[in-house]
Order: sequence, then C-alpha cells, then structure tokens
Amino acid sequence: MAEIPDKSFKRQLHVLLAIIFVAVIILGIRLITAPKHKTGSSGTREVMGTFCRLISVAPTNSINDASIEAGYSELVRIDAMMSDYKPESQLSEVNTNAFKESVTVSIELMEVLTTAKKYSALSDGAFDVTIGPVVDLWREAKKKNAIPTKQQLAEAKAKVGYEKLILENNTVRFAVEGMRLDLGAIAKGYAIDKAVEAMKLAGATAGFVDVGGDVRTFGKPPTKKHWIIGIQDPASEGGILLTLKLNDMALATSGDYRRYDEVKGKKHSHIKDPSTSQSVTKLTSVSVIAQTATIADILATAVSVIGPEKGLAMIEAIENTDLIMIPADQQQDLIHTKTIRKYVDNTQPPAGYTTVSQLLKQQQEK
Ligand code: ADP
Ligand code: MG
Repeated sequence: MAEIPDKSFKRQLHVLLAIIFVAVIILGIRLITAPKHKTGSSGTREVMGTFCRLISVAPTNSINDASIEAGYSELVRIDAMMSDYKPESQLSEVNTNAFKESVTVSIELMEVLTTAKKYSALSDGAFDVTIGPVVDLWREAKKKNAIPTKQQLAEAKAKVGYEKLILENNTVRFAVEGMRLDLGAIAKGYAIDKAVEAMKLAGATAGFVDVGGDVRTFGKPPTKKHWIIGIQDPASEGGILLTLKLNDMALATSGDYRRYDEVKGKKHSHIKDPSTSQSVTKLTSVSVIAQTATIADILATAVSVIGPEKGLAMIEAIENTDLIMIPADQQQDLIHTKTIRKYVDNTQPPAGYTTVSQLLKQQQEK
C-alpha cells in the first residue's frame, strides 16, 4: 500500500521529464531553423552619376539599416571629395591650385593618388590619373563635332604623365601648368572599398556594394555558399554576359559600350591612351577580379589601354587577380586568365546567354 504514492510520484516525474524533453527538442529545432541573420537592401540609389545598391547581412534589421546608411554615406563622401564635376570638391581645388602651390589633401585623396601612381608605374603609364587634359580635349571635340588636330593631341599629351604629379607628405603639386587629375577610373572602386569597410564596422557580417556594375562582396550570403555576381553584356542593355561566384572579392568592368565621345558620327571610347591621346579601340569590354575594388577598377582601365595580349600577361603576373575580356574585332572569342574557372558559376547559366557561357567553358576545357 505504501508504494502507491511513490508510483504516482514516479509517473508524474516521467511525464514532467517527457514534457521537458519535448520542449527542449522543439526549442532546439526552432533555434536551428530560425534565421540567424537578416538581410537588408538599400534598394536602387544614385551616386557618382550612376546607380548603386548595398546589401547587408547581420543578426538584426537595425544593424542592417545602420550598415547600409554607413556604407552609402561613404559613397557620397568619397564622391564629394573626388569628383571632377563638383567645383567644391577637394579634387577640383587640387586641379585649380596645384601648379601655383602645394595643396594639402585628405588621407583618402592621398591614398588614392599614391595607389594611382603605383599602378601607373606597374602598367607602364597605361593607367594615368593625369589624363585630364586629354579627356577635356575629347569632351571639347564632342561639343564642336570636330576631331582634335595632331597639334592639339600633342599639346594635351605634354600635360599628361604621372611623373609630373608630385606627392609629398600630405600635399599635391603639379610640375607642369595645365595639368588636371581625373579619378574616373579609380574613385568608384575606392568608394566601394570604403563603403564595405564602413558596413563591416557597423556590424554587417556579409553583404556587397555595387556601384554602376562594379562590385565588392564580403562574408558569405545567408543561404548560399557564394554571392553570384553578373558581368554585363556589352551587346545588350541590361543583359548579363555570365555569372561569377564571388566571395570576398571585387569585380570591375571597363568598356566602350556605355560611355563614349561621339564625334562626326563615330563613337570614341571614354578611355584614352596616355601615350597617344587617342581613344582606345582594341577591347569592347574588360572585367577584372581582384581583392579590392580599387585595384579591380584600375586594372580594368589599364588593360583596356594596353590591349588583349599584353593586358592578359600583366594580369597573369599579378597575384590574386583574374580577367575576362571581349576583343573588339572578334567578339565571340573571350580572352581570360587560366584561373578564372574557379569563379565561373555553372549552376545558374542565365537564360539566353548560354552560348557565351558555353563558349567560355569550351575554351577552358581546351
Ligand atoms: P567606367 O567609368 O565605365 O567604370 P573606367 O573605370 O574605365 O570606366 O573609367 C574611365 C574613366 O577614367 C574615363 O571616363 C576618364 O574619366 C578616366 N580615364 C580615361 N582614360 C584613362 C586612363 N588611361 N587612365 C586613367 N583614367 C582614365
Ligand atoms: Mg571602372
């Protein structure tokens, strides 16, 4: 008789343990399946005369909001500092005064100019931010609808040359009168890098920044192994040439298909060869993958100037960079680095673009 209360106590204990057990299981499943990370998007915004989009992954929505605003603010800040269209920018101040006197500049502008000079030397002068006078000459040619004369081309060339750009401590000085800096081929990449930095600092664990088709990704996307980034097809507005798997890397594309100076019905690329003052002609599009957007941006322009063979050799020689380009004459013959294969996304060939993807695949299998 004395055992009865004991038995019912044991039964109650078993029931209680069973409830706790089930509760723990349910809680465990909830914890496993609950999204650990939220994803936020800036939507399409405008900056640097083009469109941009920032994606942020973080534990909470409020961190995403903060990281997106921090990233976007950086894009706006760098644009305000380095735009040659804005008369009040620090770059414009340099362009107006640096021949007369040394101009003190921000850490950021000095970093950009130092990097620019380094890559000018590395590319044998193909990439050169002192290209301003040549860019101006062609803008003028477009307005007047008259091709620049030989003399005008030579005069512009005399004001170009990275060795004429004097950087000392935190000051900039021009060696020749009439020099003008143009950061059109580097500022976008630099701004993307600064935006990524700001997003990480604000607590984002992953995401990407896309400005006008130049992109840098960081961390892993929440549900997939890789960020999938499309390279624009120069042949079609908004079309994707092929897609790449891109984690913690940057991609920049230079091409003659969207921006050009039209003179006498002929399209002249907005990318100029500093050695001739002429517009480049050999490549329709050049996409470079690098560890930073600054380097990708620079190298895409440099290769556009250097041309396919030497350009490929230069990129093959630089560590952690890859390249895919479309020559102007034979658009079906994609040229690329050997190691690009690791980035090519075969799981999602975009509809309608299988031929180019297949072409690339065939070339890689050769
Ligand atoms: P996008 O602006 O389409 O990204 P790029 O990154 O190649 O293209 O930048 C091209 C811009 O860079 C031009 O519009 C001009 O302002 C500037 N530029 C042109 N030629 C050169 C050059 N050889 N080196 C450095 N900058 C250049
Ligand atoms: Mg670029």
